[in-house]
Amino acid sequence: MAGIRFSIDELAGRGLDIMYDPAETLVSERLGSQGHEGAGHEIHVRLRAERSGEMISVNGEISGHVTAVCSRCLGPVPIDVTSRFHLVLLPQHELPEESEDDEIELEPDDLDTAFYSGGVVNLEQHIWDQILLEIPMQPLCSPSCPGLQYDRSGLEEFEEIKREEARKNSPFAGLKDVWRSDQAGNSKNE
Ligand SMILES: [Zn+2]
Repeated sequence: MAGIRFSIDELAGRGLDIMYDPAETLVSERLGSQGHEGAGHEIHVRLRAERSGEMISVNGEISGHVTAVCSRCLGPVPIDVTSRFHLVLLPQHELPEESEDDEIELEPDDLDTAFYSGGVVNLEQHIWDQILLEIPMQPLCSPSCPGLQYDRSGLEEFEEIKREEARKNSPFAGLKDVWRSDQAGNSKNE
């Protein structure tokens, strides 16, 4: 079976239960740059599809885990995937006619509505979108991740030179000593 595609004819009567366990290499391919290379992914999809006239109703559950990339250190970040969704699919010909001036306004409900054409329902895009939604915008391997580790000795040397120059060039460099001796003088007079 080619993934999560099915013909609406298969739904006649009692509907259809679908189990889909994509291969790790496919998960990795679909995650693209959001997936950590060489780290594990495991996804299980369970679907129940029912048909009422031309309307297809799908209840789905996605579980498993993927490994994302830490946005600071690029290390692996394990992400649990637990997602349930309900999707209503309508035949493509019921799409509102698109005119040049009117933009179709999406109602909130439309997020759970999709379309099929040619009597074939393909849930691939929806399923992968759901999985990608589980990955945070900026995944972190730990809240205190220090970021990429690199040799700081050169940087510290450079900063020390800059501090030294700032001390020499400061117009108040000499004043500070005057103020200090003044303070010392005051405390003696108390
Ligand atoms: Zn990290």
